[in-house]
Amino acid sequence: MFTYSTRDSLKSTLQKVRNQDKIIGFVPTMGALHEGHLSLVHRASEECDVVVVSIFVNPTQFNNQEDFLKYPNTLENDLKLLSQFPKVKVFVPSGDEVYPDEDSYEPIDLGQLDLVLEGKFRPGHFQGVVHVVRNLLQIVMPQRAYFGLKDFQQLAVIRRFSLMQDIETQIIPCETLRDVSGLALSSRNLRLSEKEKEDALIIHQTLLKIREWKLLHAPSMVKQMATDFFNQGVLKLEYLEIIDGNEFVNLHEEWTSNALCCIAAYCGEVRLIDNISC
Ligand code: AMP
Repeated sequence: MFTYSTRDSLKSTLQKVRNQDKIIGFVPTMGALHEGHLSLVHRASEECDVVVVSIFVNPTQFNNQEDFLKYPNTLENDLKLLSQFPKVKVFVPSGDEVYPDEDSYEPIDLGQLDLVLEGKFRPGHFQGVVHVVRNLLQIVMPQRAYFGLKDFQQLAVIRRFSLMQDIETQIIPCETLRDVSGLALSSRNLRLSEKEKEDALIIHQTLLKIREWKLLHAPSMVKQMATDFFNQGVLKLEYLEIIDGNEFVNLHEEWTSNALCCIAAYCGEVRLIDNISC
């Protein structure tokens, strides 16, 4: 398997790939890889000739310094997991490679997306996400880039950015992978004890209840019922919102065809997010 740490070395390899009219897929990650990440790599491998997987814990998207410092790093294992994919080239850059001195990035207006849910509770987070994705896309220049629906709002932000900037890369959404218990796979789960992993199941249980309750009640009522249900567990709820997944506005009286319930909560010290279409 090929591993690159500088933009120049990766770019020159990818130029050769492009010269052969091959399709380049891209899966940006922050490492601590799990089956959820690998499902994106798997899909990209099926649909592309070469797949670049980046591993970079992006400091600019952490609004909480402690969260950044505690972000798991399992590089050796990540590389081992990726070695089973013959088409993969791994990009493990330093901060200087991603953010060179001549970086021309200008913040973009994310509108409503930056004001609600993750945008509201993690100020600056999405500007950091857009910045790193933009810089990585400029290096990799893939035809296709794969993102998880687990981070639904992030996906919407990247779509908006790509529309605003006329980015040619096709943005491909991928389903959330869960373990058998229903817990959405996340690098942050590595920081949970076995007991906390059990406690965290309340997130998925609540999301499933919402799907049931939706058949009988309006969104505002379901939100109240779901919040009460969630609060019977021990997690500390940051938000539970039922929104329209296109407009990112709260639903009150009527369900829309793209309704989504999003939850963010602390399990001990670890912040978890999840969502379900409902
Ligand atoms: P991260 O390393 O957390 O930045 O995630 C890298 C990519 O993997 C993002 O597009 C995530 O949405 C996606 N991802 C993370 N967890 C999962 C999961 N459980 N299922 C599917 N995709 C995921």
